[in-house]
Amino acid sequence: MPAQLTRARRVRTPKRSILARITKPSREACWLWTGARNSKGYPAVRIRSAYVLVHRFMLAQFLGRELRPNHDAHHLRDIYGCPEHCVNPLHLQELHALFHRKRHLASRKCNHNQYTKSYEKREQFRKRVSKKRNAAA
Ligand SMILES: [Zn+2]
Ligand SMILES: [Zn+2]
Repeated sequence: MPAQLTRARRVRTPKRSILARITKPSREACWLWTGARNSKGYPAVRIRSAYVLVHRFMLAQFLGRELRPNHDAHHLRDIYGCPEHCVNPLHLQELHALFHRKRHLASRKCNHNQYTKSYEKREQFRKRVSKKRNAAA
């Protein structure tokens, strides 16, 4: 486990309050979020004014950086059988939104790709706009 996940920090830092709401049966098992979830069942908290998806947060902590743009935190369910509220970074994979989507089309459907949805919407919008442009040309 990387140091940043275990090191004690000042009380009331977001990380501390997030870690306090995670049940870890073991390093390898699913780490279960006991806090609030969004409408899709995924762990979500509001920290100050920011809306934080906890599995994304945990993966970013583990990687020691933010997730890359257009990337999702994908649960490796096929291997670990994760529920929506698993936040073990070892069970998560940073995946480009497009690959992520393909992955789910190929296997089991899941909803944790919120980012994918907004990405798709943007793509659809982009296509509509370029279609209009082409029509006008
Ligand atoms: Zn898991
Ligand atoms: Zn996924």
